[in-house]
Amino acid sequence: MRMILPGKTIGVLGGGQLGRMLAQAAARLGYRVHIYEPAAHCPAGAVAHKEINAPYEDTAALTAFAKECDVVTYEFENVPAAPLQAIETITRLRPHWSVLATTQNRAREKRWLRDNKFPQAKFAEVAAGGDLAAGLREVGLPCVVKTADFGYDGKGQLKVMSEAEIPAAAQKFAGQPVVIEQFIDFACEVSAIVARSPNAAVRVFPVAENIHANHILDFSIVPARVAPAVAAAAEKLARLIAEKIDLVGVMGVEYFVTKTGAVLVNELAPRTHNSGHWTLDACMTSQFEQQVRAICGLPLGAVTLLSPVVMVNILGDAWANGEPRWDTLLAQPNVRLHLYGKAEARPGRKMGHFTVTARDADMALELARKYQARLPG
Ligand code: AMP
Repeated sequence: MRMILPGKTIGVLGGGQLGRMLAQAAARLGYRVHIYEPAAHCPAGAVAHKEINAPYEDTAALTAFAKECDVVTYEFENVPAAPLQAIETITRLRPHWSVLATTQNRAREKRWLRDNKFPQAKFAEVAAGGDLAAGLREVGLPCVVKTADFGYDGKGQLKVMSEAEIPAAAQKFAGQPVVIEQFIDFACEVSAIVARSPNAAVRVFPVAENIHANHILDFSIVPARVAPAVAAAAEKLARLIAEKIDLVGVMGVEYFVTKTGAVLVNELAPRTHNSGHWTLDACMTSQFEQQVRAICGLPLGAVTLLSPVVMVNILGDAWANGEPRWDTLLAQPNVRLHLYGKAEARPGRKMGHFTVTARDADMALELARKYQARLPG
């Protein structure tokens, strides 16, 4: 398989923090990076060789962008799939557009998982204008109703606990296609980041344990504090999913771990993942470097964990009383800080993250909670 060597140009659709950290990793390996992003002054554009601002539907702009790139990838799922198909006639697109088409819609993703016999929560689909109550009865209560399209970080989700809440749910999702999912009273959530290269080599990073707050990732803990069999099951599923979907690139796979130790797939993301940011500071290869290696056909890097680590997301909320206390955080010798260069700190917006390394995961989490509490200005 032909390698795309350093010096060549990697195109990235999407200009958020994942594109930014990809551009930084690519630059370290000597690649050029072009970012295509509708909104000007994006986090990735600030550290790339070129930033193109145009809508994803602008075929002329997209064609011109693709012509300058030796390979194109994407850093978030909400790129419309049709323009991606057009790119594939001009240059290499990795992962293939059909991977994105499957994973950007919850209903399609769940159908794909079911058809390929991967374990997941029981679900039902309700078309726009369909009978939500019937779907809720099919899955059973409690359950979670989610919009089929364009959902992330708990946006477009509603937990339904009792019959009495059904009318409110029907009203909230009126006219939208949804999936209804059995509510899983999980023991914990874990994720695995898998990379697969054009010659079908696969590497899976050590599994992370994830703690969410208000549906947004708060902490990722590595190694995950789960039984070895649970971590092994999560890694194996990630590998099998990458093979089955014919991934070339990186994919984040999120799971629920039930109280009996079953591992259920929650969500797939055909890109680097927030729960893999710890790899920048505590792994032989970062997920962003691994993405570069995978899409360029280079040998995949080692995924050896260098130290127990906890990653903490920094949301815009930390700015509520002014600039966060960077001085306090940066005074810690076991902390590394990553900020994404976003000008406006809105509540819930991911502004950066930091990692804490320690002798074990419990100690790293204890320190991470302490540093997080001290951060707001
Ligand atoms: P999602 O965007 O689907 O990954 O959901 C965001 C978060 O909401 C998950 O990481 C869980 O913490 C919670 N959640 C989503 N679906 C379920 C479910 N079926 N059962 C329990 N918790 C859920």
